[in-house]
Amino acid sequence: MEGEIGLIAELRAELGADAVLTDEADLAGFVEDFRGRYKGRALCVVHPSSTEQVAFVVRRCAAQRIPVLPQGGNTSLCGGAVPRTTGPAPVIVSLSRMRRIRVVDAANRSIEVEAGCILKTVQDEAAVLNCLYPVSLGGEGSCQIGGTISTNAGGTSVLRYGNTRDNVLGLEVVLADGSIWNGLRGLRKDNTGIDLKQVFIGAEGTLGIITAATLKLHPLPTHHALAWFAPANPEAALRVFEMFQANCGSRLCAYELMNERQLQLVVERVPERRNPLADPHAWHVLVELSDTRDGAGMEDILQRTLEEAAEANLIQDAIIAMSDTQRANLWEVRHSVTEANKGAGVGLTTDCSVPISAVPAFIDGATHAVRQIVPGLDIVIVGHMGDGNIHFIPMFSFPAWQALVDARSMAEALRRAVNDVAHRLGGSFSAEHGIGQTGLAEMAHYKSPVELATMRAIKQALDPENIMNPGRLIP
Ligand SMILES: Cc1cc2nc3c(=O)[nH]c(=O)nc-3n(C[C@H](O)[C@H](O)[C@H](O)COP(=O)(O)OP(=O)(O)OC[C@H]3O[C@@H](n4cnc5c(N)ncnc54)[C@H](O)[C@@H]3O)c2cc1C
Repeated sequence: MEGEIGLIAELRAELGADAVLTDEADLAGFVEDFRGRYKGRALCVVHPSSTEQVAFVVRRCAAQRIPVLPQGGNTSLCGGAVPRTTGPAPVIVSLSRMRRIRVVDAANRSIEVEAGCILKTVQDEAAVLNCLYPVSLGGEGSCQIGGTISTNAGGTSVLRYGNTRDNVLGLEVVLADGSIWNGLRGLRKDNTGIDLKQVFIGAEGTLGIITAATLKLHPLPTHHALAWFAPANPEAALRVFEMFQANCGSRLCAYELMNERQLQLVVERVPERRNPLADPHAWHVLVELSDTRDGAGMEDILQRTLEEAAEANLIQDAIIAMSDTQRANLWEVRHSVTEANKGAGVGLTTDCSVPISAVPAFIDGATHAVRQIVPGLDIVIVGHMGDGNIHFIPMFSFPAWQALVDARSMAEALRRAVNDVAHRLGGSFSAEHGIGQTGLAEMAHYKSPVELATMRAIKQALDPENIMNPGRLIP
């Protein structure tokens, strides 16, 4: 049976009627992102329960050149998981029924999970084994392992454990022709040619559908020491970071920066959040140390480093968390920024990374560039300073935004101004959120012709009919 109706009938016959949704009301949550910024249309949403079913869906779609859009938790911040409004409507392949933990190998410190497992579930499963799966981010209760791998998610532990890419040992992928590549190897060393899994990590569903992964686990830290302090300025925050690195080595696991405006928004807009320090300060840092067995001395090192920094006039105030509850409360302040910023105005989020040494120059340069365009504009800054990733957010009030003659051009000009500063400093315009549809123009602008041509060659080789998430990632 050919045609869209025939395809849907085939999919129902193979997957079961309840696994193929076509009603508009049922599709609503899949064709729009959670912030309501992007909306597209889909032929149907399918819920396969096995890798073989995913392969069947892709094979049947490939036969009719119907696009395929893999979807995880639909938490993408760049419209990557939402279908297009133009071209043939895709089949959305939701991985949410593929949630099995397949193999646990505690001695190898690895776990094999299906792609639809929620990130938080994997973290919890690892903790039962006394292990840590270190990828951690605000959306961890909703995003799926497949989504985090396809976006190479970063988060708050990159400083110590790397990005998602650094924590994937093996993958199972359904390719664009419906064949299955089983690369589920739990190996730390494997020099047998091109490392294929790296091609699919961060590919945002444009090269195939990840159906399972073997993930790297780490020893579970059981002791933590955390402080919140006010550095005099970003330059001082950088110097204190160097002191922490020198004094704490690999125990340093988080170094997060925010400006006063960001903290104000959290305190004003999220219930039960408070300024951790007694007075307002221009800049804030959350720093955390952790260790697996011997916590002794960690608070001393933290205290001594802060004292050293205070003596050098680099910090103005600090507190050390005295209990697990206080520590959790301080992390809550950091994790509340997305909720606080949503609805606070129109925030033009950017996601730049620069060499860590260039963070102060980036903040200075971007502030200057933005205020050249809109004098006095509110600027919200929050970022993972320890890995050089700063979310620099020019923020309009709703009335100011509505008063703009051409809001879209303004948004583009401001984002470009910020990204230009990062680019001049050797940085990237997308450190962790990915490209999706938001970043396509920037890809075309900043990537060299050689780099783009190489990406297109890989896409052409693996998906010659361009059915996998077309119109995303590669301009
Ligand atoms: C509150 C909040 C905080 C966040 N904080 C951070 C942060 O600190 N650091 C960070 O890096 N990110 C952050 N993010 C973004 C987050 O990393 C991504 O949204 C998440 O990794 C995507 O996972 P998902 O399962 O929701 O994927 P989706 O949003 O469903 O999909 C994202 C992309 O991956 C593709 N995809 C999904 N599943 C598969 C699969 N199985 N195979 C192939 N392709 C697939 C989709 O086609 C799409 O292109 C945050 C998001 C939220 C909502």
